[in-house]
Amino acid sequence: MSAYQAPLRDMLFTLQHIAGLDAICAQPGFEDTSPDLVEAILEEASRFATGVLDPINWSGDQQGARWDQGVVHSADGFKEAYAQFCETGWNGMPASPEFGGQGLPTAVSTAVLEMWKSSNMAFSLCQMLTLGAVEALARHASPELQQRFLPKMVSGQWTGTMNLTEPQAGSDLSAIRSKAVPEGDHHRISGHKIFITWGEHDMAENIVHLVLARLPDAPEGVKGISLFACPKFLVNADGSLGARNDLLCTAIEHKLGIHASPTAVMSFGDQGGAIGYLVGEAHKGLGHMFTMMNHARLNVGLEGVAIAERAYQRARAYALDRVQGRTLVAGSPAIIGHPDVRRMLMTMKARVEAMRALAYFAAGEMDRAHGHPDEAVRTQKQALVDLLIPIVKGWCTETAQLVVADGVQVHGGMGFIEETGAAQHLRDARITTIYEGTTGIQANDLIGRKLMREGGVTMKALQRAMSADAHRLAEAEDAALRPLGLGLQRGLDALSQATEWLLTCGPQRPAAAAAGAVPYLHLAGTVMGGWLMARSAEAAQARLLRQDGDAAALGAKVATAHHHLHHVLVDAPAWRDRVVNGASSTLSLQDAQF
Ligand SMILES: Cc1cc2nc3c(=O)[nH]c(=O)nc-3n(C[C@H](O)[C@H](O)[C@H](O)COP(=O)(O)OP(=O)(O)OC[C@H]3O[C@@H](n4cnc5c(N)ncnc54)[C@H](O)[C@@H]3O)c2cc1C
Repeated sequence: MSAYQAPLRDMLFTLQHIAGLDAICAQPGFEDTSPDLVEAILEEASRFATGVLDPINWSGDQQGARWDQGVVHSADGFKEAYAQFCETGWNGMPASPEFGGQGLPTAVSTAVLEMWKSSNMAFSLCQMLTLGAVEALARHASPELQQRFLPKMVSGQWTGTMNLTEPQAGSDLSAIRSKAVPEGDHHRISGHKIFITWGEHDMAENIVHLVLARLPDAPEGVKGISLFACPKFLVNADGSLGARNDLLCTAIEHKLGIHASPTAVMSFGDQGGAIGYLVGEAHKGLGHMFTMMNHARLNVGLEGVAIAERAYQRARAYALDRVQGRTLVAGSPAIIGHPDVRRMLMTMKARVEAMRALAYFAAGEMDRAHGHPDEAVRTQKQALVDLLIPIVKGWCTETAQLVVADGVQVHGGMGFIEETGAAQHLRDARITTIYEGTTGIQANDLIGRKLMREGGVTMKALQRAMSADAHRLAEAEDAALRPLGLGLQRGLDALSQATEWLLTCGPQRPAAAAAGAVPYLHLAGTVMGGWLMARSAEAAQARLLRQDGDAAALGAKVATAHHHLHHVLVDAPAWRDRVVNGASSTLSLQDAQF
């Protein structure tokens, strides 16, 4: 089985030319972060990913987490790997230094997180959920609660979870029924939660559950939900662990993938009520959770990039080794010499690099939205981030499904056999379009809150920026760049037409607009991916001229951008047509004969 190798060269290239690493390092607050330091961090992380996490990925998938009378045993090697992960300080890397983190730019931590997710997605989820809980507490909890929980969660000594979903409340959290009854300085929580990632395990000494529940006087719907911190073990005044709280993992799910990540069924308050502490304001819990949604959704989008990268690496290794039939490409006796296998591998590579470019671009914009010295720029960047996030989440995870499927196909029959590992990527990737908001929910957010509600202001500004780049490239002296500019212009025409259609017809025909929402999300991702690949090719060509860097790698970047243009960006007009012709999805049940 081939070992994971972090694509450091492409990560650094993308950070530099797409995320704008130099400018981010110059921002106030990041003075101690230099591009050289970033390179060293990435190299160190890649050693951890390859040496510690990758070796327990497949065994973890085969063995899975095991439930026994409320106790969950992690897969072999996970506990030791987690201890090492925390000792070396990786757990709190993106968190604020105020609570013991390293406060690295989001763009940098995004590249590091990609490595954890590529090498072992199941393992990476524990840190991802903990960091989500850390962010929510850091923004909304009282200073006293922050001091009680955050330093140990940032160090990894304790982990965190997000307890949102209930059997009747999935995409629609307004249906939450869990209850919280006030009692002195805390509340008594009761209710049932399902699908809670790393909701119970043996890797850390305590677990801090963030739970959505309703107070007795709560109004119906989303405006009546509050957020509570409910530790597995109560915490004494001196910080030591106290009694076991009244909450239990009653089962873990048997899943299609991410077997080593326990997905817990949680029961709160069977013995009279679990002690929970209100986080932020009463009835504003859902809003509080949404303030950390951008990071969480970026990170799940990144899972699409990461699993696709891993599937590509595995397929490439197999194709370089497997000999079958006489090939048509000179010097390539293995199946990589068959043009169709090359097409699949090139398409996988092009899709991965375009997704990585979009995810890192969004991460860089998050850094600017957060810390740019000019307030007007911060506001504008925040609007752009808000627009980009559903696209990163929805498009990267949907695109990953295509890449992992090609990964199986490159293996032929062996792709269907578990031992090669290709099937694990297909299984693991499948959840990414579902949790943290399904693709349908992301697309509704994109066309509703992010596009129509503001009359398309941010999308149109982005389209203008992309159009300026397309014109420059279409008229470039360099013949290698001109087709990229022309192809981008065609893609942009399709995106602009779909945007106009939604803005004009959407308010009068909401069902037709909703039927076109997911195709619009695909269209936006496809065109933005093409835009960033064209910009990457331009940067690579400039460096080739200056003889700055590995000529073969820079040339490959240009070739990959061309492949993306001909095999991915070319789909843009078909996505536009699906947006504007979505009417068949709005037929009544009777007309459609479902
Ligand atoms: C492995 C795993 C881990 C998870 N981890 C966590 C966790 O840690 N914490 C947590 O709280 N939850 C977690 N979840 C729950 C997850 O977030 C939900 O499964 C997800 O939000 C979808 O909800 P649902 O399953 O109820 O599907 P439903 O909401 O029933 O959706 C079914 C279908 O209907 C569509 N749909 C629903 N509403 C709309 C709409 N308004 N417009 C268009 N289409 C719509 C959906 O897109 C989907 O295709 C996890 C789930 C799994 C499987």
